[in-house]
Amino acid sequence: MELSYILNELAEERDDYFRAIAPPIVQTSNFAFKTVDQMRKAFEDEYSTWLYSRGLNPTVEILRKKLAALDKSEDCLVFNSGAAAIFAAVLANVKSGDHILSVKNPYTWAKKMFEEILPRFQVSHTYIDGTDLDNFKNGIQANTSVIYLESPNSWTYELQDLEGVAALAKANGIITIIDNSHCTPLYQQPFAMGIDLVLQSATKYISGHSDVVAGVLSGSKSMIERIFNSEYMNIGSGIQPFNAWLLIRGLRTLDARLERIERTMLQVLPFLQNHPRIDRVIYPLDPSFPQYTLAKKQMSGAGGLLTFSIMAKECHTIETFCNSLKHVLMAVSWGGHESLIIPKCAGMKPENFDAANPEHRLLRFYVGLESADYLIQDLEQAFLAIHHLS
Ligand SMILES: *Cc1c(COP(=O)(O)O)cnc(C)c1O
Repeated sequence: MELSYILNELAEERDDYFRAIAPPIVQTSNFAFKTVDQMRKAFEDEYSTWLYSRGLNPTVEILRKKLAALDKSEDCLVFNSGAAAIFAAVLANVKSGDHILSVKNPYTWAKKMFEEILPRFQVSHTYIDGTDLDNFKNGIQANTSVIYLESPNSWTYELQDLEGVAALAKANGIITIIDNSHCTPLYQQPFAMGIDLVLQSATKYISGHSDVVAGVLSGSKSMIERIFNSEYMNIGSGIQPFNAWLLIRGLRTLDARLERIERTMLQVLPFLQNHPRIDRVIYPLDPSFPQYTLAKKQMSGAGGLLTFSIMAKECHTIETFCNSLKHVLMAVSWGGHESLIIPKCAGMKPENFDAANPEHRLLRFYVGLESADYLIQDLEQAFLAIHHLS
């Protein structure tokens, strides 16, 4: 299916709503039946009937069809957050006594689920360095039921060999789940590489305007139907119609926005790489990236995230740099129209800052939709502000 068709036409039955270009927001909690028999059928199979909007909703349905098509999956569910998608995907595939093998440093709330919630139900986990396939081989236990992946990973963008991990998991009857937020289905297609469940935070590129929190979980029809009838309905965190409508709107420009971001990145990246105050820039599709060959093999783009480190002896220097930015905003999240920065040192007390630890000097930078010159000028004047600081 062509990308243009998915973003502009798929699932939009305009004859059903006055030939309107923009789909209606079907803001209803429930749906009426004409006969008892129709109602009975809906009770028997809520996965295929309008009954109650915690289950299916027509606006959400349009979005689901588009997002599943983007992932090249049979079906998907859209949640009120990426965290809810993670929760449902994992919960649906573990039982008491099971073990999860996860890449180290998965997204914060995946980590909290593994470390704080699941141990209460006797589900254990191990973290491994996912850059080496052997670590997966060696990490599998008799009770491993889920392998949890995030490729590229947060901050330093470590990759996992998705085909290798998928084959290994299949041979051992283990379900693979990947957080694909970084690439979106436009730049990485985990199903084609054999992964079972693919999720992403739609808060990021799908929304694209920093005005919705949402998550997507894609998989086979049987897996998605099972999760719909259980975790999805029970957690009750499906996306609301208005937010689904905003995501449909975000999808219209997904391709165009990513293209623009990549173009800007090609100008911002060399500026940072050549800057005398920067000693390291991490971007998966740059030849300097340690797993560049794998990145080129399994990703067709790397989007707007990069990480760099400033040469600084004091935490204050990094703080001054960030505080001096006039246009790049300091905030969590990414994928919106606005460029953003987070210094690693914001997550620690200044007295614990150790300039000898390269991790402490990292800054994660997200390139948004502003022009490259506008961003470079802003970065340059912030570098000038720390010119005299060590
Ligand atoms: C933001 C994010 C999430 C969580 O998504 P929410 O929509 O904020 O719940 C999960 N994984 C990654 C990699 C993210 O960046």
